[in-house]
Amino acid sequence: MTAVSLNAVEKSFGSAKVVKSINLSVNQGEFFSLLGPSGCGKTTTLRMIAGLETPTSGDIMIRGVRMNTVPINRRPTNLIFQKHALFPHLNVFENVAFGLKLKSMKRAVIERKVGEMLEVVSLSGFEKRSVNELSGGQQQRVAIARALVNEPAVLLLDEPLGALDLKLQLRLQRELRRIQRSTGITFIYVTHNQSEALTMSDRLAVMNDGRVEQVGTPAEIYLKSATSFVASFIGRTNLIEGVVEVEADTARMTDGPIIAVLDEVERFQNGERTLLSLRPERIAINPAQKMDNAIDATVAEVEFLGSTILYRMRIADGRLLFVQALADSNPYAEGASVQLGWNRDVAIFIRSTSI
Ligand code: ADP
Ligand code: MG
Repeated sequence: MTAVSLNAVEKSFGSAKVVKSINLSVNQGEFFSLLGPSGCGKTTTLRMIAGLETPTSGDIMIRGVRMNTVPINRRPTNLIFQKHALFPHLNVFENVAFGLKLKSMKRAVIERKVGEMLEVVSLSGFEKRSVNELSGGQQQRVAIARALVNEPAVLLLDEPLGALDLKLQLRLQRELRRIQRSTGITFIYVTHNQSEALTMSDRLAVMNDGRVEQVGTPAEIYLKSATSFVASFIGRTNLIEGVVEVEADTARMTDGPIIAVLDEVERFQNGERTLLSLRPERIAINPAQKMDNAIDATVAEVEFLGSTILYRMRIADGRLLFVQALADSNPYAEGASVQLGWNRDVAIFIRSTSI
């Protein structure tokens, strides 16, 4: 079942159109992320779902009901920001119980629900603590409990971990994922952090300049990037662009000194211009076996990343290719001459344009 759908939604502030005809469909119980660089329109999109902004055109549907003009407090949504607005003078229990008290629920019911929710966010026993005594991560978990206790159909989260240190971010990412699974509530999660979106989401939408460039599972987005923006925003990649030559049952593309043998030859036509994305970890350095593609290069830069090493390899026309290899105590040295190789099936075919 569809929890939230956006149909041709647009938003302008004055003459600036910041959300440009977005179509999205988020399933019930899904962890769905909006991922994109700062300023691409993620927050504006989320605020329209929450009811804090009205779309300039298009429809926002929640569980099949048109929501465009429904006020915030009448929507089955709850919003969590990076800066959690907890009530500083109330303790943990009272913060979480706040919304339930507004609904005049019985004391015993409130206690049970708050207790259950504090357990979900691993804060049982913290009921009487002042929220000012808590760490940033604990405060954010109180904010999550306070939102979830109202049993929203959809929880909207806008970069909720952005203010925390990296270690805590990683822990809360896993915890949020677990909370989402155990409650079954639909989450729409806004982030500019690509690894966060890839780890947490069932599906994600990659946004750029007010548009959705691609919607898919993390694996689809990474392995089958639909546009050059997606391929280069998600991790690192090498973009190779050139004209295809088809000869008998082989297709090749030439891009300066790179002659790439292409997979799925039947997809290509002689003379068409195409773009490939070649992930750094798919390129072998001095491969033991012959590969479909080979090119000479010189090591220009060696960056030790921990589990892997990222090389910048200079090819004959001066361009740099990213190549990533498992860490090795004896890496290739700057200036070393190497041969790079890759098999045709690892390049992601992005687009083709006729010339
Ligand atoms: P993101 O969350 O992806 O960083 P936003 O949705 O916050 O992006 O902003 C998208 C664009 O809309 C930005 O250029 C921002 O400056 C502009 N914008 C956001 N809110 C307003 C507003 N209330 N008035 C005018 N411009 C706005
Ligand atoms: Mg934002």
